[in-house]
Amino acid sequence: MAAEILSGKIMSESLRKEIAERVSALKERGLTPGLAVILVGNDPASEIYVRNKGNGCAEVGMYSRTINMPEETTQEQLEAAIEELNNDSAIHGILVQLPLPKHLDENAALAKILPEKDVDGFHLINAGHMLTGTPGVVACTPKGALYMIKSTGVDLNGKEAVVIGRSNIVGKPMAMLLLQQNCTVTMCHSRTKNLAEHTRRADVLVAAVGKAGFVTADMVKPGAIVIDVGINRVDGKVKGDVDFDAVKEVAGYITPVPGGVGKMTITMLLMNTVEAAERTLA
Ligand code: NDP
Repeated sequence: MAAEILSGKIMSESLRKEIAERVSALKERGLTPGLAVILVGNDPASEIYVRNKGNGCAEVGMYSRTINMPEETTQEQLEAAIEELNNDSAIHGILVQLPLPKHLDENAALAKILPEKDVDGFHLINAGHMLTGTPGVVACTPKGALYMIKSTGVDLNGKEAVVIGRSNIVGKPMAMLLLQQNCTVTMCHSRTKNLAEHTRRADVLVAAVGKAGFVTADMVKPGAIVIDVGINRVDGKVKGDVDFDAVKEVAGYITPVPGGVGKMTITMLLMNTVEAAERTLA
C-alpha cells in the first residue's frame, strides 16, 4: 500500500488560520506582531525566500519589514542594523537571511540578535535551550518537521529515529527534538559507514542531506515515517533528498517536495514570531 502523503500545504493552511486568530487577538490588545528580515546582497534564491516570508506575514495580518543591504556591507554595518531592530518595539522577530556574503561572520551576526527576538532559533542561547530541553525558540525547519511527524499520531516513545545530516540548522536540532520525544536517535553524516544499515532500522527517517534522490526505496523500513527536508534544484525543478516515487511505495508516511517541510518552515517562522510577540505581553 502506498504511503500516506503528509502535506505541508494542508497543515500550513490550518496552522496559518490559527496564527491569524492569535494575531487578531494581539491587535485587539494594541500590539501588531512584526518580523524584520535582513537580506545582504542579491542571491536570487534568498530573494525568493525573503519574499515568501513577507507574503506569509501579510497572509496572517502581521507587520513585516525587509532591510535590503548591499553586497559590500561591512560586519559593523550589519551588526548596527541588528542592534537597531533589537531596540525597535514594533519588531518582535529578527531574521538574518543566510547564507551571508563570504566576507561576513555569520555566527557573530547571529549572536547580536536578542535571543527573545531570534525567531530562527539559531542564537547560541536558543541552541542551548534546545539541547537542555528548556523553553526557548525552536528552529523553524525541525519544528515544522516534528509537527508533521506528530500529525501521524504514531506513538514516538522508544521508536528508532535516524537523521541524515548534522547541520546546526536542521540535523542537530532535529535529532534533539526526536530525543525529547523519547525516540532512540541515530545521527548519520558523510563519514557514516554502512548508511543503509542505519536507515533501514528507522521508524522515523529524516533526510537533510542536500542531494536529490539520495534516499532510495531499499534504504527505507516498510511503514516508516519519511521526512524529506532537502531542497535541491535539478533542471529548474525543486527536488527533495528522497526518491519520492519509489519510497512512497515502501514508507507508511512521506512528505512531498515541494509542498512539504519547506512550506511548514515559513509557517513555523510565523508561529515563532507570534509567540515572541505574545511573550512581550505575558
Ligand atoms: P548542510 O550542507 O549544512 O548539511 C548536509 C549534511 O548532509 C551534512 O551533515 C553532511 O555530512 C551530510 N551529508 C552529505 N553527504 C552525505 C552522504 N553522502 N551521506 C550521509 N550524509 C551526507 O545542509 P543543511 O542541513 O543546511 O540542508 C540540508 C538540505 O535541506 C538542503 O537540501 C537544504 O536546501 C535543505 N533545507 C531545507 C529547508 C526547508 O525549509 N525545507 C531549510 C534548510 C535546509 P557532513 O556533516 O559530514 O559534511
